Amino acid sequence: MTGSPFNPEGDPLALDRETMRALGHATVDAVVDMLVDPSTPCLRRATPEEMAERLPGDLPESGAPLEDLLGILRQDVFPFMSRLDHPGYFAFIPACGTFPSALGDFIGAVLNPYVGSWMEAAGPTRLELVVLDWFKEWIGYPPSAAGILVSGGSAANMTALACARESLMGSMSDDAVLYVGDQAHSSLARAARLLGFRPEQVRVLLTDERQKLSPAHLAAAIDADVAAGRRPLFVAAAGGSTNTGAVDPLPELAQVCHDRGAWLHVDGAYGGFAALTDRGRRALAGIELADSVTLDPHKWLYQPMECGSVLVRDGHLLRRAFEIAPDYLKDSVVEGGEVNFADRGLQLSRGSRALKVWMSLRFFGATAFREAVDRSLDLALLAEEHVRSRPELELMSPASLGIIAFRRRAEDEPTAAAVNARLVAEFERTGRGLVSSTRLHGRYAVRLCAMNHTSAAEHVREVLDFFATAALPDQRVAAEVPSRDATIDREAWLRERSSVDLAAVADVPLFADLEPTALERVVELGRQVLVPEGGTVVRRWETSRDLYVVLAGAVVATRGDRPVARFGPGTHFGEFAALDWGAGYGYARQATVTAEEPSRLLALSPGALAELIGARPELDRRLRSVVRERLADAEADA
Ligand SMILES: *Cc1c(COP(=O)(O)O)cnc(C)c1O
Repeated sequence: MTGSPFNPEGDPLALDRETMRALGHATVDAVVDMLVDPSTPCLRRATPEEMAERLPGDLPESGAPLEDLLGILRQDVFPFMSRLDHPGYFAFIPACGTFPSALGDFIGAVLNPYVGSWMEAAGPTRLELVVLDWFKEWIGYPPSAAGILVSGGSAANMTALACARESLMGSMSDDAVLYVGDQAHSSLARAARLLGFRPEQVRVLLTDERQKLSPAHLAAAIDADVAAGRRPLFVAAAGGSTNTGAVDPLPELAQVCHDRGAWLHVDGAYGGFAALTDRGRRALAGIELADSVTLDPHKWLYQPMECGSVLVRDGHLLRRAFEIAPDYLKDSVVEGGEVNFADRGLQLSRGSRALKVWMSLRFFGATAFREAVDRSLDLALLAEEHVRSRPELELMSPASLGIIAFRRRAEDEPTAAAVNARLVAEFERTGRGLVSSTRLHGRYAVRLCAMNHTSAAEHVREVLDFFATAALPDQRVAAEVPSRDATIDREAWLRERSSVDLAAVADVPLFADLEPTALERVVELGRQVLVPEGGTVVRRWETSRDLYVVLAGAVVATRGDRPVARFGPGTHFGEFAALDWGAGYGYARQATVTAEEPSRLLALSPGALAELIGARPELDRRLRSVVRERLADAEADA
């Protein structure tokens, strides 16, 4: 109990009931005042120095009145953050709670149930089961499915991957392979890394021009692994990708997985609750066929952070994967129908995340939530219409589950990236809203994610008017676009000196205009590969990560039996695999490459490439423009 009133004698932390009431009322008054009003900027940043000055870290020995503390929070803490519930907040994935759900969190914090075992929390455990039953019904799962509320989508995805591995394989095996589309959320890469999947056990597959994972691609990648004696374990499909809201073709992917004994997980962290609406349910058709599903109530179900969930279709697998019964917990073993949530996931001590969900859904009723989600879907459609009607704007991806991507038109890609990055920053400075950026198959795009129940048509229009009409920034001082590839590991210094000759490297257009010391570095970092006629350099779907430059000879790339490209001296291939997708994982090879004649290649590891790119930004630009072109070709082929 927090601040028990029962035995104040000698309890240094006790408060009497009247004091608790007074403090509670004062707190509610203060937070309601701190809620967003239209003048609150959507995001206020601050430097570490400013924050350290405002909030020195001293802890006095004696206490302070609550109003002083609330004053500090109001002055120095809460102004310095993004207001996720701001009507103009369209960045990343917005998260906008409701007051009844906040009260649910408050109640849980005051009464502090331990929702690890049935014995200690039959009531709160039942509440969580009720909430999970709602989720199951919304996505069309059978009553035999089971789930658990966790901290968020990252924990849910990791829980699902662990459950799949335990269910299909038991302990980790080097043969297990995991497949994701290139639009999959980065939390899947992190989950794979933490659960011990090495780079060659993860296949990142190129998505098609609508950013969706192709069932034919997946089947071919899996079949290639099976033929090589590996074990296809887990496929992560998107039930609304964070980038564009794209939903992978779930029924077809389910069939591919079913036929090949692989586990299908649908990551519906942000998009899954669209299933509350008819339109959303249609968009997510097939989600009920997945072996597991991630849903984040703290995204599109308007719950305060933290609240994620994972559901497993064959419910007993979740318990089998996580159950463990040490001596000190023997008192809480389950009897018929009792559920110990500690046996369904990582956490032993856990509170009631269900309280806030239950409070808010029961308070407003399901219809209000359906309508709120429907409104978001409408807003995204409205945004799409707007973009289509403004010649200054370019639609980068159409409305899908509340997200659209667009940008201000510009003559070429580097200009578009620079101009739009600047506009994103300028829009932030207006304080009236926030959007974020991404790259869609290498092209810069501005994302607008309409998910707040506080947003209305006028707020969407305001963003698009700004992007259509803002004076174009001076491109000579264009903003630098951050690259996510800068973090690739640097094992390159371990490489032996190769026998590549400098003159051959200097002739390669990719390295044109590099000064002599940079060319020497290329030679130092590179590894010479000699391939006989008919020899294979890389095979389609494999996960080797080197970039190859052809110094002499010629190689052909084939998909199936079809030649798709020929590379002669001075050209290069393997750029996708060399770029980092996340957590050190790279794209699976798009094609098999064999030598047409005896060939001499220069291979650059991802680490070597990262070093070269880090020092020579024009190399990065050249590679990215090649990747963009090849993506366009490869998409058409997917
Ligand atoms: C947000 C998101 C995640 C991660 O969820 P957290 O709650 O932030 O941990 C995973 N997958 C998708 C598709 C997401 O949008």
